[in-house]
This record gives sequence, C-alpha cells and structure tokens, in this order.
Amino acid sequence: MSMLLPISRREFFKLAGAAAVGTLIGDRLKPSKARAASGATIRYADRDVPVLFDADVCVCGGGPAGAAAAINAARNGASTVLIEKGIALGGLATLGCVYPMMPAKVNGSVTPYIFEVCEKLLEHAIDFDDRSGKGAEGAICFNPEVLSEIYDELCASAGVDVLYNATLVDAIVDGDRITTALVQTIAGLAAVRSKIFIDATGDAYLARAAGVPARRGSAKTGRNQHMSFRFEMGGIDFNKLYRYIVIKLKDDFCKNRPPYFEFAKTKKTAAIFESGVTRGELEQDDIVYIQAITMVGKSGTVSMNMPQLPSEYSATDAIGYSRAVSHGRAMMRRLANFLIKNMPGFKRAYIAREAALMGARESWRIEGKYMLTEEDYYEQSRFPDAVARTAYPIDIHDVELDLRRKLPEGGFYEVPYRSLVTDRISNLIVAGRCISADFAAQASVRIQPTCMSMGEAAGIASAYALKNNIAVNEVQWDRVPNRSYASEPK
Ligand SMILES: Cc1cc2nc3c(=O)[nH]c(=O)nc-3n(C[C@H](O)[C@H](O)[C@H](O)COP(=O)(O)OP(=O)(O)OC[C@H]3O[C@@H](n4cnc5c(N)ncnc54)[C@H](O)[C@@H]3O)c2cc1C
Repeated sequence: MSMLLPISRREFFKLAGAAAVGTLIGDRLKPSKARAASGATIRYADRDVPVLFDADVCVCGGGPAGAAAAINAARNGASTVLIEKGIALGGLATLGCVYPMMPAKVNGSVTPYIFEVCEKLLEHAIDFDDRSGKGAEGAICFNPEVLSEIYDELCASAGVDVLYNATLVDAIVDGDRITTALVQTIAGLAAVRSKIFIDATGDAYLARAAGVPARRGSAKTGRNQHMSFRFEMGGIDFNKLYRYIVIKLKDDFCKNRPPYFEFAKTKKTAAIFESGVTRGELEQDDIVYIQAITMVGKSGTVSMNMPQLPSEYSATDAIGYSRAVSHGRAMMRRLANFLIKNMPGFKRAYIAREAALMGARESWRIEGKYMLTEEDYYEQSRFPDAVARTAYPIDIHDVELDLRRKLPEGGFYEVPYRSLVTDRISNLIVAGRCISADFAAQASVRIQPTCMSMGEAAGIASAYALKNNIAVNEVQWDRVPNRSYASEPK
C-alpha cells in the first residue's frame, strides 16, 4: 500500500502502547470499552501495524449520517469507534459550511434523533425553527460551531470513542467480512478491528475499499453533480440588505424578515450580478448559482451556497477535486469582493469562514441489495423495512438534468434498509449520501435530516444484530423492536 507514512520504531511502540498509556490519560478521558489490548498489532503490507481499538461497531466518517450511527450504536450497548478525517463532527454541515438542514417536506420524517438534535440546539440557545411554522418539520437552522459541540457531547455521553484527524485508507477483508479498518493518524498507520462496520464517508470509501461495486455520476452524462465551495460572510447590515432586496427591488423570493432571511439570483435580482460580469468584476461561471442565507447565533453572518464549480471539476477525480479548491477559492474571492463593493448592507462585510471540506453533492453510490430509483420517488414507494421517509425534491444542480418535479402535497416515498446493505459484505452498513440509489433518487435522499435518519437506523440495527447474532445485511428492520422509523403503507 503506497499511502503508508514512514514510522520510526520508537513512534511505533508509542502508538502500540496506547492502550497501556490509557490508564495514565484515562484519568482525564472517559473509560473506553473499545480500546485494544496493549501492544496488539496486525500484519499489513509487510509491516506490524498497531491496533488502537477492538470495537463492536466502527463507523467511518462523522458527518450527519456517521455521527448519528455512532451515537445510536453506542447508546444501544455497542462499543463504538468513530473515525473522522477532520477535527469536527458534522461533515458537510460543519466542515463544508452547508446550511441549513433542509426539510424532508412531509410530516413523520423527523425521527427521534433529529428531534433530539433540535432540542439540543435550543438548549444551546440556537433557535433552530426557520419560522415556517413547521418546527422540526421545517428547515432546521443551526450554528456549525455549536453543532459540532453538540455532537461531541452526544458522543461523550453515549461513550463513543471518536478518533479525529484519522483518515480511513484501506480495509482488510476476510471472505465476506471486513475485519479491520486501516487509518492514517498523526502517529502513523494504525488499525481498528471491529465486528461491524458502518461506512458514512459520503464517498462509499470503506465499501469500495472492501470491493463493493459502486456507481458514480449520471448514467446520461457520466458527470457527477456540481460541487460548491461554500463560505460564510460576516459584518453584514441586514436592515440595509432587506430594504434593498425586498422593498426596493420587490423581490419576494424570501417570505421572512431578518434574522431569518435569504436572497438568491432571481428575475428581480439577476441584473445586479450580470452587471458585475459586464464590468469584469465577476465571471459568468461565478453567477450560475447564487444563494445567501442568514445564520442563527451568528449575527450579521450569511451562509453562501456558492460558488458552484463548473462541471469539469469532478468529485470523483483526485486531480479535478484538488483543482476545484483553488479555482473555487478564486471564484469565492471575486464574489465576496463584488458583494462588498456593490450590494447594500455588505460595505463592512468580510469572509468569516471558508469550508474545510469541498461541497460534493454526489460522488460514489454503492450497489446494495436494493437500488432506490427515480421511479420509487414518483411512485411514492413504501417498503416494510423503511428507515426514513422524504418528499424532498430531486435536486440536481445541472441545467441539463434538473427534474425538480415535486410530489403532491402530503406525498412521500420511503428509503428501505436494503439500500444500506450489500450482498458482498455481510458486516457492513452504508449510511448517508452514498447509499444504494440511482443518480436522481440520491439527489433527493441526500439532505442532512434524511442522512441523519439513515445513520440513526444503521446504529440501532448494528446493536440489534450484535445482540441477536445476526449479520447486519440480514437484519429485517421491521422486526427491530426499538426501530426509529416504521413504514406507513399507502
Ligand atoms: C453545496 C451543497 C449544498 C447542500 N445544501 C444542503 C442544504 O441546504 N441542506 C441540507 O440538508 N443538505 C444540503 N446538502 C446535502 C448534505 O449536506 C449532504 O448530502 C450530507 O451532509 C451528507 O451527509 P453524510 O453524512 O452522508 O456525508 P458528509 O456530510 O459528506 O460527511 C462525511 C464525513 O466523512 C468524513 N470522511 C470522508 N472520507 C473519510 C475517510 N476516508 N476517513 C475518515 N473520514 C472520512 C468527512 O470528513 C465527513 O466528515 C448540500 C450539499 C452540498 C454539497
């Protein structure tokens, strides 16, 4: 494996001895149920690699799906490790500056864990309600820094071992089971052994490393959904902005007043941005998608749902992804400078934060036991093993493919557990935006609350499988007594 970091003998013993040291640092840390025996190692790529954890459940990726999976697995009695390459949980919601959590647009979609996160936001003085009158059924506003704090607290109280700054690089597979996840840590390559694995990387990284077939992009164009490099701007005078957009331009895109306000490129506002292109302050690509949303708990701050990268920058191509970063940053700077110069209310504005994770809407999706399809969306399919329901539209950021046909009021479809598991690997659950769904269906299930519900189910199902000695890809979700969502037939 070429990704190995050179590691000195001394460092190796330090890392391998982490369990022994645990008694020392254990004074300050909650006792771990998953810590590996002192000095345990495995052989990998002709070297001894220290084993950090021997867990019941190992979750890879700490985004909306992964955090939910780990918290729910641990609460249900499984010793659980959560591997995250960043240093905050929340995935695109925190590291990617993606805001707010869009609503699934149907009653009954808010599973208990989502509700709990909303309550926690309130406890932290973050009024999550977007004033649509729908409470947790509407968009859920949050503050990214508070959200990652909440996830830390929930993980700590559930007893999850979070391994930050740890990138999953490979999986060891024995027959139809993953035995070990290989992670790159600050101290070098390390191993996490586990009975069950949950892939919540968003990119199906673990599943692909274990040989699960995966698809990417649109079958029609071969392209992935566009990526965006999101950011936040602070120092904005919302009164001036509101007066200009709503009173002067008579734009009715947003029905709320500040502090719950947003603007976008609409028929009424398009000329502002187009004039920027004419004057050479902006490029045409910069203004393809413009949207800015005020944030709760961050006064004078908007979340920018832009810039949207041109389609040649692909979320599944290492070099394209990397080039998207510098190209996107240049777009971001042009947009920020343009707004500061031209948009009322932005005179004293500045870039407050740029995403630490590229905004990939879609990359790889596994081929699971059941492939959720565009037909399931339109036919409002119900499944006995459903783990979530949603009516969120098929939201494809591509003019050639955009479907956006909404379901009738009250209509919804369900996401089956079988889309989270595969025939290939018996101890793997995949949760979040990389489940088994076709390109169009993924464009609907990908919103954060639906990913949270999938993670919640994955956590509960894995603990249930352990207790009942069943392979996770054989779990019949409709038999799980404490399931977070039960199907509602048509
Ligand atoms: C530009 C954009 C705008 C969006 N707008 C909205 C919106 O307004 N509202 C909404 O609800 N949804 C929105 N979404 C969708 C939503 O944010 C994502 O689909 C959702 O966050 C997916 O959750 P996830 O847990 O599956 O994956 P992610 O959020 O992608 O999280 C995956 C996590 O896994 C970690 N990870 C990945 N690989 C590894 C590895 N090898 N080792 C260790 N860790 C790893 C990542 O660091 C990350 O923390 C938007 C998405 C984008 C890109």
